[in-house]
Amino acid sequence: MNMSVSNSLNYGHGSYYQNNYPTQTRSDESQVALSVAELAGASILIQQASKYLAHKLGQGDEFTSFDNVKKISDKMLSENGLKGKIDVGFLDDANKIDYIKKYGSQMTDSFETVAKGGNAFYMDGAKLAVAPKAKPSLMLHELGHAINASKGKFMRFLQKSRGWATAVPTALLMLNGAMGQSNDGKKNFVEKNAGLIGFAAFTPTIIEEGLASLRGVNAAKKFLGKGAKLGALKRNYALAWGTYILAGLGLALAAKQSVASS
Ligand SMILES: [Zn+2]
Repeated sequence: MNMSVSNSLNYGHGSYYQNNYPTQTRSDESQVALSVAELAGASILIQQASKYLAHKLGQGDEFTSFDNVKKISDKMLSENGLKGKIDVGFLDDANKIDYIKKYGSQMTDSFETVAKGGNAFYMDGAKLAVAPKAKPSLMLHELGHAINASKGKFMRFLQKSRGWATAVPTALLMLNGAMGQSNDGKKNFVEKNAGLIGFAAFTPTIIEEGLASLRGVNAAKKFLGKGAKLGALKRNYALAWGTYILAGLGLALAAKQSVASS
C-alpha cells in the first residue's frame, strides 16, 4: 500500500528525482512525495475553508440601513480630507452600466460581481470604492483602504506588498536553487523556513486588511453612538479577515510546495 501510494505520487515529481539521484535516497524521495501530497491536501482544505467563509459573508446581515451607511461613508471621507476625492459607488444591476461606461469595459466582470453582491473593492489608482447596493456595509471597509492609502508611505507599503507577496514561492524556488543541494542531506535555511517566509510575506496584507475594517467599525460606532449594534458588521468583517489569514496560510503552503518539489 505504501508502495502504491509513493509510486503514484512519484509520477509527478518523484520520477525526476529518480533519474538524477542515487538509489540510496529513495526513502527520502517517498517522504518528499508524501509531504507534497499532504501539502496539496492542506491547500484544498484551505480553499474550501475560504469558500465557506466567503459564503457565510455572503449571507451576513447588514448592521444598519443603507442611508446610515451612506452617511457614515461621507463622514469617513470628510474627516480624512478625502471628500470629493474618492468615487463611492453602491452598485446594482440598474447602475452598473454607468460604471462600466466610466471606467471601461475591462472592468465589466468586476462591476457585475459587485452588483450581484459577490465582492467589493477599492482601487487606489482610480480612486474608486465600490460595494454592492444590497451589502452597503462592505463600503466602510473599502473606505478604510482609501484612508490607509492616504496615510503615508508605511501604509502604502503595507497595501502594495500584496503584489510582491504572491511572487514569494517563485523567489524561494530560485533562491533554493541558487543555494544548491547540500551533501549531508540536511535542509538549508530556505527549505526549513519556506512556509514561515511565505506567511510572513502576507502579514502586511493581513494587517492592512484588519486596519481597513477597524476604521469602518470605528466610524460606524462614532456615528451611531452608544448602544449601536455592531455585531453583524464585526462578524462580517471577521469572516472577511479570516479569508486573508487563510490566503496567508495558502501562500505559506505554496512556498513550502515550491521548495519541496524543486
Ligand atoms: Zn480589503
